[in-house]
Amino acid sequence: MPNSGLIYDIKKYAIHDGPGIRTTIFLKGCPLDCWWCHNPESRSREPQSRKNLRPQKSIAMFANIPQLVGVRVSTAAVMEEIRKDVLFYDQSGGGVTFSGGEPLLQADFLKSMLKICRHENIHTAVDTSGYVDFSAFEKVLGFTDVFLYDIKLMDDALHRKFTGVSNRLILENLIKLQEKNVTLRVRIPLIPAITDTELNLKAIISFLKNETQYKEIDLLPFNQMGESKYERLDMEYRTGPLKMQSTEEIEEMKALFQKEGFRVSP
Ligand code: SF4
Repeated sequence: MPNSGLIYDIKKYAIHDGPGIRTTIFLKGCPLDCWWCHNPESRSREPQSRKNLRPQKSIAMFANIPQLVGVRVSTAAVMEEIRKDVLFYDQSGGGVTFSGGEPLLQADFLKSMLKICRHENIHTAVDTSGYVDFSAFEKVLGFTDVFLYDIKLMDDALHRKFTGVSNRLILENLIKLQEKNVTLRVRIPLIPAITDTELNLKAIISFLKNETQYKEIDLLPFNQMGESKYERLDMEYRTGPLKMQSTEEIEEMKALFQKEGFRVSP
């Protein structure tokens, strides 16, 4: 069982990555290539360099020295960080979320972390794209409190275009997980004119109603925050400027799910 993994960030006091106040551990590597990805530094399965575009004036000499993204860390070191905020988890009903990238690409490391958390009564969430062999899920099923499972596009041609892969494996794994009786929230990133169309949202509703019994939905409104990261990584931001959804538009999307019996947050 590997006692180390490749991560690229740790976010403290996260409030959108599962219940309560959480520490989110970002594992490196992702099999998808989403046009809108907020974490392009997560994609590569290896540490990579990133330009320092805005150095402080006083230390301009560092301007052209690239930073390294991604570090191999031991389970013990990650647990040390996680344990610092146990009080917040206990008071808020929070815990730890393993995100990415795709955390299940490092299923053995993930399993080690989840086992320790379970042993220490720390609530865990695994935030996944679902695009992994089901054997990766089987490794961690018994130690994960909740899966946060992304569904992006129901039209397979569009899914291939905007994420680089077919949605078949993702949808099949979602159905298989149900047979394992896991706790799971479906998360839908609302990308303007790509995933947030009425056609796509209704197709997701129809799939969830006909093929699964999942009722908990998180709608994730779009923001442009990840865009600046692309330049630093010498990567192209393909979505271009997009118009953020208004509160009314989000409410309308929410209502589509609610009237079909889903519980939606936020
Ligand atoms: S699945 Fe998530 S981490 Fe991977 S490319 Fe898509 S948005 Fe980025």
